[in-house]
Amino acid sequence: SAKKLIAANWKMNGSRALVEAVVQQLTNLNSAVDVLICPPATLLSAFPVSRHYKLGAQNVSEHDEGAYTGELSGKLIIEAGATYVLVGHSERRQYYAESDVMVCAKIQQAVSAGLTPVLCIGETLIERQQENTEQVIAKQLAAVYASHPELLVKSVIAYEPVWAIGTGESATPEQAQATHAFIRGQLAQYDAIAAAKVRILYGGSVNAANCQALFAQADIDGALVGGASLKPSEFMQICQSAK
Ligand code: 13P
Repeated sequence: SAKKLIAANWKMNGSRALVEAVVQQLTNLNSAVDVLICPPATLLSAFPVSRHYKLGAQNVSEHDEGAYTGELSGKLIIEAGATYVLVGHSERRQYYAESDVMVCAKIQQAVSAGLTPVLCIGETLIERQQENTEQVIAKQLAAVYASHPELLVKSVIAYEPVWAIGTGESATPEQAQATHAFIRGQLAQYDAIAAAKVRILYGGSVNAANCQALFAQADIDGALVGGASLKPSEFMQICQSAK
């Protein structure tokens, strides 16, 4: 797609001081790239409204509202200033037992609240070694879009191989491109026009040194950056590489 999207996933890191540092860096960025920051939800309102970046949450409840202690609805997230939300991050799937069914419900909640969901998918090391990558990804995509193809036009996809997250071992540009092309092909079954346009981000040990080669690939439309997004000047470099 035309304009790349560079997304920061701060996970359970950051502070008001980091908000200030990142905001200061990003005010020097021009508009050739879209930037999304997903800080812990408690920091969303610490970001000034800006044309230089959009804001996202890292999770959303599968429910509309009610007695769900500790959870955040799409509506609350919107009120906090976010317009995006990560859904189904592998850490949520692994540590908080988010199933494909739950992920689908969360995407529906996000879209009905007016948020753009970033659906995170990806295979584990064992799944890759057993050559099940395509099967795993196809299942994760089908769990949302086979029953709700209309959600694709509202979505961003993030391909994050679990073995590449936080390991310093990024997928190679060729590995990532091959999987991104597969993802786009799968999505075309559900909505061919939306599949051609949907932004597919790569995530997993993206840094200032490896991002350019990833961004040169035909089906890589941006990145979802973890660790390197906590370093304001490196994150800025990654954003600048995406033009
Ligand atoms: P790292 O960039 O730290 O590998 O994290 C990737 C990630 O999980 C982003 O959502």
